[in-house]
Amino acid sequence: MSTIDESPTEIPDVLPLIPLRDLVLFPNLVVPLFVGREKSILALEESLRGDHLVALVLQREPETQDPGENDIYPVGCVGTVLQELKLPDGTAKALVEGVVRVRVLEYVTSEPYLQVRVERIEEELASDVETQALMRALLADFEKAAELGKPIPQEVLIAAGAIEEPGRLADFVAFHLNLKSDEKQAILEAAKPIARLEQASMFLRQELQILELGSKIQNRVKESLNASQREYFLREQMKAIQQELGTFDETQQELDEYREKIVAAKMPEGVEAKAVKELGRLEKMPQAAAETGVIRTYLDWLVGVPWAVEDDEKLDLIEARRILDEDHYGLEKVKERILEYLAVHKLTDTMRGPILCFVGPPGVGKTSIGKSIARSLGRKFIRMSLGGVRDEAEIRGHRRTYVGALPGRIIQSISTAGTRNPVFMMDEIDKVGVDFRGDPTAALLEALDPEQNDSFQDHYLEVPFDLSDVMFITTANMLDTIPPALQDRMEVIHFPGYTEDEKLHIARQYLVPKQLREHGLKTTKLEITDEALSEIVRRYTREAGVRGLERQIASICRQVARRVVEGHGRKTRVTQRTVHTYLGPARFSYGIAEESDEVGTATGLVWTEVGGDVISIEATTMAGKGELILTGQLGDVMRESAQAAVSYIRAHVSDWDIDPAFNEKLDLHIHVPAAATPKDGPSAGITMATAIASALMGCPIRREVAMTGEITLRGHVLPIGGLKEKLLAAHRAGIKTVLIPKENVRDLDLLPPHVRDEVEIVPVERMDEVLARALVAPCRPNARKTAK
Ligand code: ADP
Repeated sequence: MSTIDESPTEIPDVLPLIPLRDLVLFPNLVVPLFVGREKSILALEESLRGDHLVALVLQREPETQDPGENDIYPVGCVGTVLQELKLPDGTAKALVEGVVRVRVLEYVTSEPYLQVRVERIEEELASDVETQALMRALLADFEKAAELGKPIPQEVLIAAGAIEEPGRLADFVAFHLNLKSDEKQAILEAAKPIARLEQASMFLRQELQILELGSKIQNRVKESLNASQREYFLREQMKAIQQELGTFDETQQELDEYREKIVAAKMPEGVEAKAVKELGRLEKMPQAAAETGVIRTYLDWLVGVPWAVEDDEKLDLIEARRILDEDHYGLEKVKERILEYLAVHKLTDTMRGPILCFVGPPGVGKTSIGKSIARSLGRKFIRMSLGGVRDEAEIRGHRRTYVGALPGRIIQSISTAGTRNPVFMMDEIDKVGVDFRGDPTAALLEALDPEQNDSFQDHYLEVPFDLSDVMFITTANMLDTIPPALQDRMEVIHFPGYTEDEKLHIARQYLVPKQLREHGLKTTKLEITDEALSEIVRRYTREAGVRGLERQIASICRQVARRVVEGHGRKTRVTQRTVHTYLGPARFSYGIAEESDEVGTATGLVWTEVGGDVISIEATTMAGKGELILTGQLGDVMRESAQAAVSYIRAHVSDWDIDPAFNEKLDLHIHVPAAATPKDGPSAGITMATAIASALMGCPIRREVAMTGEITLRGHVLPIGGLKEKLLAAHRAGIKTVLIPKENVRDLDLLPPHVRDEVEIVPVERMDEVLARALVAPCRPNARKTAK
């Protein structure tokens, strides 16, 4: 490498020439130069041997390998070689500083390298206003180009500002712009500074236009990016902030979870849209806002509802029959009807059809039949009690605007079940109340009506739910209090209650084995004899169903289990005589309530929620003014029925030996014992009339006669409900004769044959027949009088 310190200002006439492919050298500027061609290397070496000067001129076409006179522009720049570095491949790298413009006058030789005679082009000086203005404009544009993103270093800008000669400034700017070689050449060739400034200015303007367009395009791209990705960036920022605050995990993760759950829930379209909308609201809300809790609860419910989850149904009638039999003794009629129902369901393949309603006293197997149905269908079983429900919102939910609002019980139960096609048992539909809070029956109707329950509206959910694949079964203790609109939609199946015999079977085959199992006892440890079971049925329970019986058996099992644990190894045998050691003294007497025939005490049969029962109705007279006193928690219907009975007797005093003026001298008191239990219904009408007549005549009533029937003012006996239960109760109580309304005779086929054999059933039409049968012989009204 060789260097020189001073650039000579004297230019010799003849100089070696290096043609440049794509570079234009300007005076006072330094460029690195790659020299590859052999001729050029020789020229460079020649210059280094002398005064380090060389003519550098652009060739017209960069591709020309060995350019001659015509291939090279006529104007170039003489440069001083400041440094030279030989590279191993024979080429060289040189640092050259421009000295002065020259015009090539003549090519002296072309071998072994180009040599030219040159003429110096003198730099003109100009300082007129126009030039100054042009310089400023050029500088301003130059800076602007830098602003718009042209890679011009700061020191270049500063250096440009310091240049005073207009020509040099033009050169400087042209050199630093990305101009094409021929454009730079044009500036090099322009001798007058002002022309050069204009040229440079023009090129710079073009460059600026390109730069501006570029930034415009960039902005537009940025904008469109913004539109789609703004949210993403914001989210990311929010995430970062939340991470800083340590709140990230709960919120973001939670939102993502909701998003996943919504997809997983496979909701119907409208519901999903709703869920997504609510999630959007939640997202936008500040986490501290009170409402976020409300929205979260709502979303929890929404994703928790089994929109698309269902159990595969298998329905094989033979298998269903087997399961029903396996779980239940007897109940033949019930099972038949259920199988018919299932058969229809199988043929039509929908749940459309009346809802089953199981009516009967407690403990007769309504729930457990429901469970067996679910089992035989392979569906889930859920239960919900309607007892005491008075508010529509309990069924249908509260609107979300209420504090602490929740979905109604139907949606809650379905959510708990986790499938959209469970067997859904609604208990105590007869105990749904109506009051100021609204009528729950309307909501129930909508849920139970196959015509409209495919879009059941829950106030809380706000979106419809399809209940049409749910198999609803309702239960009730009595039919009377079920709202008629609901009754219309239901197919009633009566569970009448069991006879003693049936209870014995149920106990032996089902309840005892079940309780043994539940208490972890083997049959080798405990035996309860049939007589003992009978004793329990007769003296320790008084019920239509078998719940009390099951409880008593469980009680025995508990005590035996304890003995086993205490080391009592032998088998325990519970017999009729030892029952009381487990269960204490008998609670009920078996047989007729009254010991002897009494005046003013009639035996009635009632149908309570716990099945049929035998009651005594007492009437007595005392000195007074015709007042009627009724006690024993009688309901309105029963009170009215008592008044009807009194009016009937007053209208017929002459038929019997009754003082026609009794009403002016006596008060009448009717009492129905078991005073703590509310009683109602018209079916005690004839019993009350009998008690009153007996009291007024002073004539005893036969204790083995029981009766049931509604009374009219004209003395007609009207039919009543629950005849089978009542007759079973009478049979249990050892009653010999039962007077029943004639119109109830058709219900008698429901009665087990042995009950019909053991109880004399007398259909009656009129009150005088009742009295003729019930009163002890001497008091009977004579036929002649009755005929009147
Ligand atoms: P309900 O729903 O009518 O009040 P449950 O279904 O709860 O009555 O029945 C009470 C108990 O009696 C249950 O353990 C049930 O299994 C049993 N049970 C009732 N009827 C029968 C029957 N026919 N055969 C076998 N067990 C029965």
